[in-house]
Amino acid sequence: MTPDHTVASLIEREHQHFIPTYKRLPLEVDRAEGMHVFTRDGRRYLDFLGGIAVNSLGHCHPAVIAAIERQVHRYAHMSNYFYQDAQVEFAEALVAASGYDRVFLTNSGTEATDGAMKLARMHGSTSGRSEIIGLSGGFHGRTYGALSIMDKPGYKDGMGPFLPATSVIAFNDVAALEAAVGEGTCAVMLEFLQGEGGIHWVAEDFVRRLFELREQHGFLVIADEVQAGGGRTGTFFSFERYGVRPDIVTVAKGLGGGLPLGAILIPESLATVWGPGRHGTTFGGNALACAAGSTVLAELRSGLMARVADVGAYAIAKLEALRAELPQVIGEIRGAGAMLGVELTVPVGQVVESMLERGVIANATSETVLRLLPPMIYGREHVDEMVGVLREVLVG
Ligand code: PLP
Repeated sequence: MTPDHTVASLIEREHQHFIPTYKRLPLEVDRAEGMHVFTRDGRRYLDFLGGIAVNSLGHCHPAVIAAIERQVHRYAHMSNYFYQDAQVEFAEALVAASGYDRVFLTNSGTEATDGAMKLARMHGSTSGRSEIIGLSGGFHGRTYGALSIMDKPGYKDGMGPFLPATSVIAFNDVAALEAAVGEGTCAVMLEFLQGEGGIHWVAEDFVRRLFELREQHGFLVIADEVQAGGGRTGTFFSFERYGVRPDIVTVAKGLGGGLPLGAILIPESLATVWGPGRHGTTFGGNALACAAGSTVLAELRSGLMARVADVGAYAIAKLEALRAELPQVIGEIRGAGAMLGVELTVPVGQVVESMLERGVIANATSETVLRLLPPMIYGREHVDEMVGVLREVLVG
């Protein structure tokens, strides 16, 4: 059968066969390269979504292709029964980049979340601690552990009950934190820069108090760096700017440069919490994903993080200039590097649609925030083009 490549046909066929969970963009992608996506009707789009923070080196980066190609000719999958050099090399690079000592490799962010929660619970089990606390507006994935420490009704309604001994406290509310933690607290999990929640940095006084309370009560702090980590904000982890060191860190998204790869990172002090057989995965640490991941980490080592910090600062300055011109439409501009949020007073969904019509792919997160997650290779010329299109859309 010859496939029919018109977008309409694709949409119709999808609607017949998929459980309808996704709102798709009405594009039929043919191919993508660097910062651009090309559709079958010959249009070129500037990509400020980057596969939702996944395509860290852009599309079809030659070094990523070469690494995958090299590995696929050796083997694609071997299972975690085998020692694999692709896994070991990636783990060594990840340990060196992160400053943590040990890794567990996963396929996705939510798998890293649930694994981190299990590890924390097992660590707490020897001292009778089981409560895991999340922050309002946080996003940690779609599995039951993750959902149990999140509070957005749209992700949870009708799907309970969720895990016992879990709760969610108000974002940046120090009094709520003080009231919530105690001797039964096993862990507090948070994104230091909330992504899906609208690009919000956690407040410094909240972080300071969190780590004081951790000292006092002996619970673990789990940093979810799935979206903000891997160099995206200009440092390897977004929490680095607070001068703290969480006990467990989860990463995924951009780490595999487009292939599914995540990790749980821990210090040596937690290395023996899990022994053989206590946790596992079939696909996690897949050799192709690890080969691609090692390439991403090599690029980060050769100056990409400093570059992303610099281009991010330029983007913020350009967006601030636009805000000065349109103060009634643009509110706060938040984030860093290749993870930016622009607060708008007009419906963000419409702005995203209009930007798409003009050839720029962006995203709305929360009702009022335009989210920009370009590949980390983006440059000033891409910022200029994106801001120009945003201006056109907002001026009307
Ligand atoms: N944690 C954060 C901060 C995320 O942004 C996401 C995904 O958006 C996840 C966890 C879940 O990752 P995944 O969709 O790979 O399961």
